Amino acid sequence: MPRILLIEDEQDIASGIVMNLELENYELQHEDDGEKGLAAVESAKPDLILLDVMLPGIDGFEICRRIREAGNRVPILFLTAKDLEEDRVRGLEAGGDDYLPKPFGMKELIARIESILRRQSWYEKALPEMPKDEFGGNKVNFEAYEAQNFNNERIRLTQKECMLLRLLMENEGRVVERSEILDRIWGTDNYPSTRTVDNLVLHLRKYFEQDPAKPRHFLSVYRVGYRFTRQAAAE
Ligand code: CA
Repeated sequence: MPRILLIEDEQDIASGIVMNLELENYELQHEDDGEKGLAAVESAKPDLILLDVMLPGIDGFEICRRIREAGNRVPILFLTAKDLEEDRVRGLEAGGDDYLPKPFGMKELIARIESILRRQSWYEKALPEMPKDEFGGNKVNFEAYEAQNFNNERIRLTQKECMLLRLLMENEGRVVERSEILDRIWGTDNYPSTRTVDNLVLHLRKYFEQDPAKPRHFLSVYRVGYRFTRQAAAE
């Protein structure tokens, strides 16, 4: 039974969520402020966190940042009153997995939760087949979420970076469209913009390309998406 931690200060919303998710056989723990929520992340070891943005004490973005800083990769779904592109981008860049603006229906919430848990298991299931890989002098450890690049720098990768890297490497030589990347990595029709994908690719280039401005492994295909090649492409 997946365990969900709900950090939400609005009692009405919280009780609606708790009731509906328990009916779907999720195990729920609810905290109503930032401090307690953050403490519960450690103690409750949830499989997924539903995180309100505007909270007393520490806000949701900050909670998310601290969870990621501690190396914890539990999936986080932001719930927020604001539906501004800037906020969505901020949430995802703080390390959130998805973003659901209020008011939302319970069916929508449940669909998002299932989709996040499914993507998580896609990544984890593929781990035994390809726990580590290398290309162009870069060694990637998908299990430990870290890499050592051609320059012998150690890099701690975020979960999204690892997922994108795996997706591109699994599809070596084929163009992966931005929409497919959004679907596989974020899995939402509410995504901020394809800019988020481009930003993530920029991270990979910065880590793994000798000259990030002239990529030879993570190639752009104009207006379509990205193609990975293990053998550095000719300049
Ligand atoms: Ca709130």
